[in-house]
Amino acid sequence: MPSFSLILLSILYFLTARFGMAVFALQPTNITLLWLPAGIGLIMVLIGKARALPLILTASFLANWSGMQLPDLWHSNLHTAIAAIADTLAAWIAASLLRKYFTHGLQRAADLFRFVFLVCFLPTLCSGIILVSNLVIGSYLPANHFFTLLAKMIAADSLGILLIYPLYADWRAGSEGKESFIDANIAPNFAYILIALGGVWLAFRQFPGAIYFFPAIALLLAYRAKASAVSFLLLTATVVLLSLSTKNLGPFAIANQDQAHLLLMSFIMFTTLATQSVSIQQRQLDLSIEQSQSWQQKAMHDNLTGLHNRAYFENILADEWQRYRKFHRTFVLAMLDIDHFKHINDVYGHAAGDEVLRTIAKVLPQSLRQIDIVCRYGGEEFTLLLPGTNLDEAKIILERLRAAIQNTPFVFGDQTLQVTVSIGAVIAKEDLHDHHEMLVRSDKQMYQAKAAGRNRVEI
Ligand code: GH3
Ligand code: MG
Ligand code: MG
Repeated sequence: MPSFSLILLSILYFLTARFGMAVFALQPTNITLLWLPAGIGLIMVLIGKARALPLILTASFLANWSGMQLPDLWHSNLHTAIAAIADTLAAWIAASLLRKYFTHGLQRAADLFRFVFLVCFLPTLCSGIILVSNLVIGSYLPANHFFTLLAKMIAADSLGILLIYPLYADWRAGSEGKESFIDANIAPNFAYILIALGGVWLAFRQFPGAIYFFPAIALLLAYRAKASAVSFLLLTATVVLLSLSTKNLGPFAIANQDQAHLLLMSFIMFTTLATQSVSIQQRQLDLSIEQSQSWQQKAMHDNLTGLHNRAYFENILADEWQRYRKFHRTFVLAMLDIDHFKHINDVYGHAAGDEVLRTIAKVLPQSLRQIDIVCRYGGEEFTLLLPGTNLDEAKIILERLRAAIQNTPFVFGDQTLQVTVSIGAVIAKEDLHDHHEMLVRSDKQMYQAKAAGRNRVEI
């Protein structure tokens, strides 16, 4: 059974094909400058695999049928069927090459140029040769136009893929939660899109130069907007541009029609490729900045408690020590160790031990000032850095801290447990050699607190 989305896409395939033939077909050949169904067919195969093929075949046949009528009905049907087979084949080849060579989608700007060759050019070259031969053999076209029309058809089909696929990829990334599809800056970016479309429109009125609003704004969006907004602008502006260019070629009008079409298509291709390259590269840059920030964050924090970790603390301590040497701003370093923690683990289990660590990690900052630093130094040991604090103040603060933990009930099932800590602290002083010595001394103080009966502060 074809899925609902496949049927919807078949209808869209048919409509965009009819729309193209009605709006930007080159008469009398009926070849369009943009064949969006090429992109839609590709997506149908990506979604539905082999199930998509009969649907593409049918949609293409129905769309082409009215344009390919000959006096002889049998021949009309034959040539229309061949055209439909060629369209289906192109979608299938494009999807196969895409799956084979772009398993992770388009991740670098350089991928885009491989994509144009493998997914746009090669499949549409195959189908184009069949399609144009079919038109020549059926006497729809004079044979001497073969190569010109082949080139136009490849350009139109490739452009269809190039405009539709990125939009689908953005939507997929959004639905997989990788990157939101809808832009947070939707209003201003939408305004930019309208300006670009206005520029295209003006270019066909009185101001040919306004056509460059389109690439300029497309590039601007590539830097500042979500990829979906960029792809949406490229698609809509191309459709508007090509629709306008069928009446008169506007800024692309030069004496030779074929050259004018080449100019027009080159402009669109250049704008699309340049914009998509920047957009892909920019997204990659945003992603790597985001990742490096998240790694930095992870490298400085402890997983279990969310507190800063030892590596971070040692850096902060070294800085604080330097400040003390330069400006004589004293500070206190305290080391805190949970009493009989092994016993908690042994009796209540490791998970309960972890819960005690998490709770203490929450209680500690609550009893301290904003400028104090709390960190999980290792196992069940925490370190505190109290800047600009003298011995008397430290005694009060640390005593308050000790009491706060003692008074925090730790509930496991139907049992309530009291947890205590031993704290050793030192103040930065001239006779200390460096901050490492502070750590050693505070550790010693902490063991003294243990030896003196635990649940106490030693400074
Ligand atoms: P003392 O009062 O002398 O400090 O006794 P203690 O049992 O607390 O001391 P000891 O250093 O012997 O025990 C520390 C224990 O902490 C041993 C280790 O299994 C446990 N531990 C270390 N890290 C973790 C952790 O992340 N989670 C849990 N649940 N236990 C931990
Ligand atoms: Mg210990
Ligand atoms: Mg301990």
